[in-house]
Amino acid sequence: MDNERGTVRSAQAGVSNAQPHRARLPRSRHPVGEPPIPGPASPWILMYHSVAVEKEDPYRLTVSPERFAEQIAWLHRRGRRGVSVRELMRARALGRDEKLVGLTFDDGYADFARYAVPILQAYGFTATAYVVADLLGRDNDWDVEGPRKKLLTVQEVTELAAAGWEIGSHGLGHQSLPGLPAEALTVQARESRRLLEDVVGGPVTGFCYPYGAVDLPAALAVRDAGYDYACAIAHSPLTGRFALPRCYVGDRDGAWRLRAKKGRHRLRDAVTELRRTRRERWERRR
Ligand SMILES: [Zn+2]
Repeated sequence: MDNERGTVRSAQAGVSNAQPHRARLPRSRHPVGEPPIPGPASPWILMYHSVAVEKEDPYRLTVSPERFAEQIAWLHRRGRRGVSVRELMRARALGRDEKLVGLTFDDGYADFARYAVPILQAYGFTATAYVVADLLGRDNDWDVEGPRKKLLTVQEVTELAAAGWEIGSHGLGHQSLPGLPAEALTVQARESRRLLEDVVGGPVTGFCYPYGAVDLPAALAVRDAGYDYACAIAHSPLTGRFALPRCYVGDRDGAWRLRAKKGRHRLRDAVTELRRTRRERWERRR
C-alpha cells in the first residue's frame, strides 16, 4: 500500500537470501537532493496502483476502468500526453516536458495489462509499471487487509517491455527501505534491477520506493545502483531526481479534483523550493 501521504505501514521480510549481483553497475552522475531536474518545479507525475472493478478497497488502491478512462480523456482534452517517467525525464532534460504528464502504476498488478494498457493505447499514451522483482506472478500479500490481486507474470512483463512500456523496479518483497542496513539497501536496489534486466532484456533505469518511503541512505543506495531516477510520493527535503514527488489518483478523482490536485502539487513545489533556498542560505552563513 502506498497511500496519499506516503506513510510507512510495515517493514518486514528479510532479503538476506538474495544472490549477490553479478556485474558492477555504473555510478550515477546525479547528486541526491539537488534541485529537481532542473528548476524549482518538479515534473507532474500521477500515481496509480490497480485499475479494476473492486468491491472492497481499504487502501484505496483501485480505480475503476470507467473512471480511469475519464481521467485519461480529461488529460487528453487538456492537451497533455501521458508518458513513462523515462520519457518524461528525457523530455525534461531538453526542456520539452511542458505538455507531458508522467503516468505510473505501482506494484505491477496484472490488471495494468488488462485494463490500463488498452485505454492508454487508445490515446497514444505510455506509462511506467513498477514491479516487485521477486514477486512476479504472485499476489499482493503485503497488503494484509486488502483484496488479493494478481501481479504481472514474468512473461507479461517481458511482453510489456517489448511493446515499449517502461518497467521499473519496486524493490524486493515490497519492503520499506528506510531503516534497513546498508547491505540490505544495496541488495534491494541492485538485485531487483539485475532480476528485472534479465526479464526485460534491457536496462532498467527507474526505481520506485515501496510505500513511497525514502530517506537519504535509501536514495543514495538507489543512485549508486545505477538508476537514472526514483519515484517517492510526498515532497520532502530530498525532493529531486531520486525522490520525485507524485500525485495520488483515486477512484473519486474527477476533473475538478484532478485540477485541484495539480494546483496543490505546484504549491508544494513552491514551498519545497522556498525551504531549500532558506536552508542553503542558512548553511552558507554558518
Ligand atoms: Zn507499492
